[in-house]
Amino acid sequence: MIVRSLALLSLALLSLSAAAETLRIERLTWAGAKISNERATVFVDAVGTDLWNGEAPQGLVPVTADTRLRFALLTHLHNDHFDAATLREVLGERGSVICAESAATYVASRGLRVIPARLWEPQMRGGFVFTALPAADGFGDEQVSWLIQHQQTRILHAGDSLWHGQWGLIGAQFGPIDVAFLPINGAMVATRPSTRSSAVMTPQQAVDAARLLGVRSAVPIHFGLNSPPSYVEVDNPLQTFLELAAEQELTVQPLRPGELWQAPETPETGS
Ligand SMILES: [Zn+2]
Repeated sequence: MIVRSLALLSLALLSLSAAAETLRIERLTWAGAKISNERATVFVDAVGTDLWNGEAPQGLVPVTADTRLRFALLTHLHNDHFDAATLREVLGERGSVICAESAATYVASRGLRVIPARLWEPQMRGGFVFTALPAADGFGDEQVSWLIQHQQTRILHAGDSLWHGQWGLIGAQFGPIDVAFLPINGAMVATRPSTRSSAVMTPQQAVDAARLLGVRSAVPIHFGLNSPPSYVEVDNPLQTFLELAAEQELTVQPLRPGELWQAPETPETGS
């Protein structure tokens, strides 16, 4: 597909053209991530509002930025991924939200500047390349995953996606992925009629997705909340994910909110 070829070409050109910059990758609360270089800060699904009544899983960390350029990527509009009040504050007058075209009007209505994105079409901003990729939402709403490239580093954020059939396709186009933020809690959410299928990837599905994506290092997100009967996650999601990942020789960095990702040591490839 031409669009995908353009995406790969632009990623390659960016890799060749930029001088080395320091990349900082931090996990935020719940599903959030913060990625920055000297010029720009990129948030993904950053939530700074206490949605958890003082009991945010693993703690609530502030959403702040020091750079002039600021962007906030959204995987979808559910309130544990889209916090308009926090984004208005941290983005200020000049920062922008980047989201799927279908979400743009709503995001703008919340007083935020918006840059709409189409699937597979890369955007270059602040030394980063952002590409919206297919995802599947547990409630049938529009959801995307984000590929974020900074020079030679490729980062994927999968929001709270379900398992779907395009992980392998994404991996073939963009893999290997240096670090992937993957939801793991396999949450069962009350529906009418009730079902026994989860609305978020299970630990096993997250490991499978990581393998299809060619993930070098997985950061589990979106777990640690149980509110039966309306919201019930799998038992011990993090421990289960770690055990299943170990069986498949998948490297995992279980960051707490506020902790920084470190590139795992890998053998020299000579490339
Ligand atoms: Zn969610």
